[in-house]
Amino acid sequence: MNNTQFDIRQLVRDNVLDLKPYSSARDEYVSDGTKMIFLDANENPFENGVNRYPDPQQRSLKQILAEQKEISTKNILLGNGSDEVLDLIFRAFCEPKIDNIITLPPTYGMYKVLANINNIEEKEVLLLEDFQPDVEQILDAVNPNTKTIFLCSPNNPTGNSFSESSIVQILESFNGLVVIDEAYIDFSEKESWLKKINDYPNLLVTQTLSKAYGLAGIRLGICYASEDVINILNKIKPPYNVNELTQLKALERVLNQDQVKLEISKILTERENLNTVLKEIPFVEEVYKSDANFILAKVDDANKRYTQLLDMGIVIRNRTTQPLCKNTLRFTVGTEAENKKLIEVLIRL
Ligand SMILES: *Cc1c(COP(=O)(O)O)cnc(C)c1O
Repeated sequence: MNNTQFDIRQLVRDNVLDLKPYSSARDEYVSDGTKMIFLDANENPFENGVNRYPDPQQRSLKQILAEQKEISTKNILLGNGSDEVLDLIFRAFCEPKIDNIITLPPTYGMYKVLANINNIEEKEVLLLEDFQPDVEQILDAVNPNTKTIFLCSPNNPTGNSFSESSIVQILESFNGLVVIDEAYIDFSEKESWLKKINDYPNLLVTQTLSKAYGLAGIRLGICYASEDVINILNKIKPPYNVNELTQLKALERVLNQDQVKLEISKILTERENLNTVLKEIPFVEEVYKSDANFILAKVDDANKRYTQLLDMGIVIRNRTTQPLCKNTLRFTVGTEAENKKLIEVLIRL
């Protein structure tokens, strides 16, 4: 893509471009640190820790993330899980019944669901046999109404990362937005693409605290992109989309990097262990190399093995109906004890 000809305003829906966002009480008055009496938001004045509305711009949390990722807070948008962040991207840029997006199955199912909810056509370009993007076919599928290409890297459910060269080719050849979903980036040795948001005005990187950070229950998703893109998403986001409890818990966790890193390293050790064992199980035909906290494996009969494991009290994900995934099962990496149990059961099947 030619950076000089990229104009984000041409990608935004007209109604969003014209929109005057809701201005919340917490947006209008920002404390300068002096003790004030807040009678502006119809809150209950009796303190209980959450009687006040949360910061709509999540300044404290963004500040820490910005420092850790070495970018500006202006390049960050936070949402109620990355699912909300992805939905905001649809609602800001994709005109219902007119625009389309491209996804690369087998991949995360939410892109398609969100496209359907927003009445946006979803074009699918299958990954190649090695689970890498088919760049030629992807660029062939682009038409003037293609607003976004969703790349999931490391990809769910295949576990692999997409090659740098194919991602660069897509970023440079496509004049719409490229979303790289990095939900599993913390399990990968590859570098995040977020460092490149200043090189590519059409690049959006999404991350989440749901996987490596162990906070799926609080719902905190992150989008890193150019200030222009973030400003547009901020215009349409619900003012208080990230609640106070989530902001506090997220802050506490991102400040405890030692614990996060310790857990990731344990998961990686277990992933290697599980990878080795799976390869020795007679009914396992192929174990795909994973950059994530799960392993996809091809077995003799996925439905049969899935049910057998379920009967033994172990729930995994059967991916056999996904394209290119016939007879595959996806195993999330658990604790050492959980994996030991899984392995004992697998060996006896
Ligand atoms: C799990 C997952 C997410 C989930 O994000 P939330 O922040 O929990 O909404 C996003 N993308 C992919 C590819 C995932 O596998």
